[in-house]
Amino acid sequence: NGNEFPLLDGGVPGPAIQIHQGQLKAQVARLRPLRVNLPIWEHQGDIRAALREKDVLVMLGETGSGKSTQIGQFLVNQKWMDRRKVSITMGDGDGRDREVMVGGCIAITQPRRVAAINLARRVAQEMGCHLGDEVGYSVRFDNKSSEKTRIKFLTDGMLLQEMLHDPLLRRYSAVVVDEAHERTVGTDLVMGFLRGLVYGKRKGLKVIVMSATLEVEKMALFFEKDREGALAFIKAKEERRKGKERRKVVEVNGGTNGKVAHEELPNGIEEGKHKKKKKKGKQDAGAPRINGNPYDRKSDDKDSSPPLVNGDRKGSVEEGGSSNERSPEGPDSEDEPYDGTVAAFTVPGRQFPVEIYYAPESVADYVDAALRTVFQLHYGQPLPGDILVFLTGQEEIEALQKLIQDYAESMDKNVPKILVLPLYSALPPGLQQRVFQPAYEKNMRKVILSTNIAETSVTVPGVRHVVDCGKVKTKQYRPKIGLESLLITPVSKSSALQRTGRAGREAAGKCYRLYTEPDFIKLAEVTVPEILRCDVASSILTLKARGQEDVLSFDYLDSPGRDALGRGLEHLYTLGALDNSGRINELGHKMAKLPLVPALARVLIAAAEPAMDCLHEAIDIIAALSVENILLTPTGDEKREQMEGERKEFDRREGDHIMLLTLVREYESQSQKKTWAEKHFVSHRAMQNLLDVRKQLKQYTTRLTSTSSLSTPATVITPDLATRILKCFLKGFLHNTARLVPDGSYRTVVGNQVVAIHPSSVLFGKKVEAIVYHEFVYTTRAFARGVSAVEMGWVGEGLVGGGS
Ligand code: ADP
Repeated sequence: NGNEFPLLDGGVPGPAIQIHQGQLKAQVARLRPLRVNLPIWEHQGDIRAALREKDVLVMLGETGSGKSTQIGQFLVNQKWMDRRKVSITMGDGDGRDREVMVGGCIAITQPRRVAAINLARRVAQEMGCHLGDEVGYSVRFDNKSSEKTRIKFLTDGMLLQEMLHDPLLRRYSAVVVDEAHERTVGTDLVMGFLRGLVYGKRKGLKVIVMSATLEVEKMALFFEKDREGALAFIKAKEERRKGKERRKVVEVNGGTNGKVAHEELPNGIEEGKHKKKKKKGKQDAGAPRINGNPYDRKSDDKDSSPPLVNGDRKGSVEEGGSSNERSPEGPDSEDEPYDGTVAAFTVPGRQFPVEIYYAPESVADYVDAALRTVFQLHYGQPLPGDILVFLTGQEEIEALQKLIQDYAESMDKNVPKILVLPLYSALPPGLQQRVFQPAYEKNMRKVILSTNIAETSVTVPGVRHVVDCGKVKTKQYRPKIGLESLLITPVSKSSALQRTGRAGREAAGKCYRLYTEPDFIKLAEVTVPEILRCDVASSILTLKARGQEDVLSFDYLDSPGRDALGRGLEHLYTLGALDNSGRINELGHKMAKLPLVPALARVLIAAAEPAMDCLHEAIDIIAALSVENILLTPTGDEKREQMEGERKEFDRREGDHIMLLTLVREYESQSQKKTWAEKHFVSHRAMQNLLDVRKQLKQYTTRLTSTSSLSTPATVITPDLATRILKCFLKGFLHNTARLVPDGSYRTVVGNQVVAIHPSSVLFGKKVEAIVYHEFVYTTRAFARGVSAVEMGWVGEGLVGGGS
């Protein structure tokens, strides 16, 4: 199945273990040269030295330099990793110090669950251990870690989840926040909490923030204990520099040699030729500088890559030469680092030059443009040289895959073959692993079609050509309609540069941007942090449940602002999670314990109430809603007709929620599940995934409700049961309701906006009094997806009754 070492997952009982150990060892030996060759390898001593001296380290490093896979291995045997006794004032007691055990494990957070799983697998292989033993992972609905685990990859959401039970993160000696530049809500909240901990109750906890973009400066400043002091230092320095630059300009114009000009060279993509690290560290902009001043950057060179960190190296760094040699003027107060509480470090990248080509004019259909570009490249460019195409989502990827495969069939025999490989989060791990392996044959080119997952999170080897559609799918909160939706939006310049950089990892490369140069210039500099563009209700609940009632004064890297926080509080209040004074109540605490958005958490809690008694059913539906692409869409009219026939039995007049429930129950009752799934055009794999999610949800829920409100699932879904289920969904989704208006369209109950039923819904084309829907997607127009029919009376009940 494409997995290199499927044995690693389970562990083999009995005598087989002997053989297995041998295999593990052989694997460690096989992978070691690859590790040694990573750019980060030679800097492990520096990284350790930095962390012996300071508690916070902010690290900037090119994608693929080895940060995520190596950092844990570099640190796991450090003295400060030992589990130890410390005195802490616990929040629950009498205010006096208590001796508690802390540490022993290192957490590495990832914004994506696939990244957490893949990295854990990889690191387990590199270290020669079974996944779940020394190296493990924990992501929503899937946990492969144990008491033995010393390096644990987890999603930022999972770390936040752990903080519910252990707000001081006592298990950990260090927390690594990886992919910090992605600025997901989870990452941002984790960083806020971590800052509170290192300067509060968990002094000595090591925090390592890793990022692939220059935003690290901001993060370093954020983590500085005395932010004002640091800021004043930077300002003063900036002033001095400005004065000095003015002097330099005069000198240069006066005809001095090009030294200054050299320093000013933008080290961007086109200029980014890799300079081998010089032993004597002279003007070696890429060399790491520990304990340097992370804020030393001109304000006007936003597009340039490192150098970021300047200043003296201290500590046990053996290398000769100091930064004083850097400055042509010799020692200078300008290079004096700010000696704060944060260490900074830059892993020099290996970036070869990449030529950038723009579309001469705007393209209307970038999938089509990508298709043509791929074949142009395939015919025009020699092998080796794989192509990486950035698209926005699974549907686009599948469409392009099909197109490329169709066209490839009619290629001449003497043209190299094409191997198309998709890469997106929902793709099963085995298939994802495929992108790391070479093509099957020598005379074959890999064409990888990826979402922005390949931008920084997964490094695909062999790529020389990047085709960038310039778009990304993002979660967007639309305050006007009070809804969160997925929108395809232009990428930021910073993302575009990252994508371009993927072409120059192993040799000089080329990047084809499927948009014009003026369009590039118009792009925003950096991606707006998710916390500023999504519904903050989840974040607020997260904060409040962890003791941060005052959500306005929390230490946000970027605060969502009063308005958004106000709306979030309001939403939580309607869901019944807050009391009249805005403090989290019992229901809110219950909701926060569930690994679900507040709305779905509310549904589950409603379903557990004796009067509703449909917890099993709600769990099945929520599991189904959380798994993507259960229903397959065959191509070809004949197949489609066949599908419609087979699916008739799930066509419930109540809508998609009950249809999904029927489907789950039907699937479960089959003895030949796979055959049944194929016959009904249902993805067997997605269903397996669904059952897995359901199992986890059940575990959470039994913990939550303590008494077993999980009575036996109903065998028949009667209209009465269906009504109860939908009423539960209304408890969570009152804001996602719309009513039929006389002109035949649906309008949202809150906001009175037009919304159409998505063609994928069983209610598509039907007219019912009112609808409740799971999500709102905005493509060509506003669509409701996951739709069920409800009565206006029920909606009214919910509106009047408030949240409880
Ligand atoms: P960074 O975090 O700096 O982006 P990583 O540590 O993730 O770098 O990756 C280092 C190298 O290891 C990359 O070249 C990548 O291709 C390789 N790698 C990472 N994960 C896997 C995997 N699961 N299988 C094969 N190679 C991998």
